Amino acid sequence: MAKTFFIKTNFDLCTGCSLCQLACSQRLLGGYNPHRALLRITHKAENLYHFPTVCNQCENAYCANVCPAKAISRDPETRALVVDRDKCIGCNMCRKYCPIEMVGVDPDLKKSVKCDLCGGDPACVAACPTGALELAYRVVPDEEEEEPNG
Ligand code: SF4
Ligand code: SF4
Repeated sequence: MAKTFFIKTNFDLCTGCSLCQLACSQRLLGGYNPHRALLRITHKAENLYHFPTVCNQCENAYCANVCPAKAISRDPETRALVVDRDKCIGCNMCRKYCPIEMVGVDPDLKKSVKCDLCGGDPACVAACPTGALELAYRVVPDEEEEEPNG
């Protein structure tokens, strides 16, 4: 048995403060730019509700499945799906096929970038003051442990 870690969202606790996005961009860029963060906050009903969306670290990951360069593989510790920038050819297939649009593009390198769980200690989870983001895991049966692109 293995554990796949992912970020669970509790939208009923989200206040829409965007601290998670600022923490994510700070880690990625070394500066605050919520538009470059790898999670999205959708504001609804005249700002009454706020829905965080984060990469699901899917077991049947379309982003990895469609990558022609086999550039997306699992971190051996967290099983997060991680982009190898040396292998990424910038074709955008992963971005196109992620059902929840959680793959971004590095505007400088023109290569894909996605949530890698910050190596197991996600900055967004640490920054969220309300518990709307939570590091969780699901147990993966042995028969499903085969690595994508392994
Ligand atoms: S980027 Fe999209 S398809 Fe890939 S693991 Fe995350 S949610 Fe799933
Ligand atoms: S930090 Fe937490 S409460 Fe603030 S927007 Fe992000 S998920 Fe919502």
